[in-house]
Amino acid sequence: VCGGAGGRRRLVILGSGFAAFSLLRAIDRARFEVAVVSERNHFLFTPLLPSACVGTVEMRSILEPVRRGRPEVRFHWGRAEAIDLERRVVRCRAATGTLEWELPYDDLAIAVGAAPNDFGVPGVREHAVFLKEIADARAIRQRLVACLEEASLPGVAEAERRRLLHFVAVGGGPTGVRFAAELHDLLAQDLARSYPALRGAARITVLEAGREILSAYDERLREYAVRHLRREGVELRTAARVREVLADGVLLEGGERLPSGMVLWSTGFAPVPLVTGLPFERDRAGRIVTDARLRVPGAPGVFALGDCARPREDPLPQLAQVAEQEGRYLARALAALASGREPPPFRWRNLGISSYLGEGTAVLDGGGAGRARAGFWAYQLWRAAIFTSLVSLRNKVLVPLDRLRAAVFGRDLSRL
Ligand SMILES: Cc1cc2nc3c(=O)[nH]c(=O)nc-3n(C[C@H](O)[C@H](O)[C@H](O)COP(=O)(O)OP(=O)(O)OC[C@H]3O[C@@H](n4cnc5c(N)ncnc54)[C@H](O)[C@@H]3O)c2cc1C
Repeated sequence: VCGGAGGRRRLVILGSGFAAFSLLRAIDRARFEVAVVSERNHFLFTPLLPSACVGTVEMRSILEPVRRGRPEVRFHWGRAEAIDLERRVVRCRAATGTLEWELPYDDLAIAVGAAPNDFGVPGVREHAVFLKEIADARAIRQRLVACLEEASLPGVAEAERRRLLHFVAVGGGPTGVRFAAELHDLLAQDLARSYPALRGAARITVLEAGREILSAYDERLREYAVRHLRREGVELRTAARVREVLADGVLLEGGERLPSGMVLWSTGFAPVPLVTGLPFERDRAGRIVTDARLRVPGAPGVFALGDCARPREDPLPQLAQVAEQEGRYLARALAALASGREPPPFRWRNLGISSYLGEGTAVLDGGGAGRARAGFWAYQLWRAAIFTSLVSLRNKVLVPLDRLRAAVFGRDLSRL
């Protein structure tokens, strides 16, 4: 089957995240007629999302429009809702309405990522904020500024002021820690300038249900991170399980209440609705199980990659670098398959993981790429890695300019 114009294969890509976007950039568009279906018409560079939610970098500096520079790619702003494997069509629905359509494919790449997991804890969806999409960063920034403004009002009761100025991150993984670090920088560097009366009054707490924060890192780095964050005044509480998120804080197992102006929920990921409805084998985390060439067994022409999938023999971590490498791999693999050749299996090159800790310090677990580091140089290496991974020249210019502007003039704390 080759139903595309000029005998080209019709490739449908679901999603516009790391996996989908790297596939889109690498695919040979002379040989494949490409259609993309995604709920957002941009690619989001998530490693800088925690910086964007406190205004260290601007939101538009970490987005890449999917359409720009690709006039021949058909972009469909919507959701894939089901896949008819017999007829080889994807059923789609418009992002904003009830319009539905079908999209035929010869090859289908499922790269729909994962969704925040609330583990069924009551109140999370109603009262907490997530940090996954650009809309989340905007909501966090608005809420943060609202808390600072309300806490500055005359006559606000002392207990209420303390509540408004207490920020809680639930989940001691990289997202919770990065958020706490970026928020610490904002409070330490910008409060004196814009809210002098609030100086020293704000608190940040990270709650982790397990025994340690940053559990994916080696022990020395974990200890360094704990020491550094505590020195900066971030409260870290392990074995702290949240029973409920309330409108004005969190309730812990055991009955303790922590009043808070904003609760960030960052405890891990669950499958998105499309994935839970597909008739494919999934692992315990709900990810689609593929073979080593990212093919979905029993579904000819269907591939799954990124956070929503994992090769059977290799439970790869849910990381941007994995998704990005898989996207590039699949572009090559599809070209090989179209020429009647069997591609080699996918191999992940571990580039290391890192987490920013605030005040120009980071931890860097080198993976295959080098040794573990902590401190100022780890931060510089992290920044260099971020800079090289930013996709377009535009963003490579904008992100350092944003940082410079925040350092010289302060972060923008206007409530829009
Ligand atoms: C705050 C934060 C910081 C992070 N920092 C790092 C980091 O520093 N380093 C690192 O390696 N990783 C990091 N990650 C993890 C990284 O972002 C993910 O591993 C990566 O985004 C996975 O890529 P993906 O393409 O699988 O999914 P995503 O990038 O999540 O993209 C999924 C796409 O699918 C779309 N979609 C969902 N459902 C549908 C549907 N039904 N139909 C059509 N489209 C759909 C979504 O709109 C989205 O475009 C971070 C994640 C977060 C949230």
